[in-house]
Amino acid sequence: MNNYKSGFVTLLGRPNVGKSTLINTLIGEKITITSPVAQTTRNKLRGILTTKTGQIIFVDTPGVHKPHHLLGEILVKNAKSAINGVDIVILVLDSSVEPGRGDEYIRDFLVENEIEFFVVLNKWDLVNKEFKNVRLDQYKKVFGSCKCFQIVSASEGVGCFELIEMILNFLPEGPMLFDEDIICDQPLDNLLSDLVREQVLINTREEVPHSVAVKIENIKEIKKDKGKKLTAILATIIVERTSQKGILIGKKGSMLKTIGQTARSNMKKLINGPVHLELFVKVIPNWRKKESKLMEFGYEIDY
Ligand code: GDP
Ligand code: MG
Repeated sequence: MNNYKSGFVTLLGRPNVGKSTLINTLIGEKITITSPVAQTTRNKLRGILTTKTGQIIFVDTPGVHKPHHLLGEILVKNAKSAINGVDIVILVLDSSVEPGRGDEYIRDFLVENEIEFFVVLNKWDLVNKEFKNVRLDQYKKVFGSCKCFQIVSASEGVGCFELIEMILNFLPEGPMLFDEDIICDQPLDNLLSDLVREQVLINTREEVPHSVAVKIENIKEIKKDKGKKLTAILATIIVERTSQKGILIGKKGSMLKTIGQTARSNMKKLINGPVHLELFVKVIPNWRKKESKLMEFGYEIDY
């Protein structure tokens, strides 16, 4: 095809500004984990949007933040390495709050490394009507000199069409890099375990979230009558302490049931068919400090 465009676009930004939500909206399917709890995106996940005129490969990254332990360090390293070799870097900002030190830290990092970037001001729906001008001024002051500046609301889809046009305009000419029906380059295991992890993060409070990993032990397709298929999935939720295991299981198993039901319903959408999900909880003390465990549970380690 003539003049077809393709390229890689990295989304950077503090945790929780809406990077994963934005990718999901732009692609139109739920492939990346979003959560009200910060720091939930594990790997450099690539979501792929194919249109008639171009193919955009989005690289979702964990938020850039100050590392606290090994897992944190790996998340940050991955975010920084995701900038290398991409065609466009997009800095995503949360307009529901004032520009902060974290945003400036990332801006300075990009400027120091002579990386040009787009700015996307997200969560515009959360800014009061009469306050929108003030908020825009605040952000223009800090980021106004950037190449492109787009206001969006990722959860409502506002401004997303314009953003896609802007990206396609800027991308170099190139071939389709993935088949047009592929929306994500992550293995199914990772997507499935993220759907369980997402529900753990949403349903439990502070005690649990950051010390949870999910491992898909087994995926089996079971043939039923009349050619119908059922996907049976066995997953283990790993925590660091026995007390966390108790919280996850809940009274008479109620918490685990809630987590399982919602995760299963999202899995059904992803797989496009019925799912049977079995969940177990296992304690592995200090798994986050063990590199072998990080790899086993699906964290990519970039050196
Ligand atoms: P990430 O850490 O940058 O990937 O952020 P997420 O995509 O996980 O989003 C963090 C939270 O912000 C989630 O609860 C989202 O539902 C919410 N969120 C994201 N975009 C918007 C938006 O445009 N408007 C509103 N109101 N909430 C949003
Ligand atoms: Mg995310």
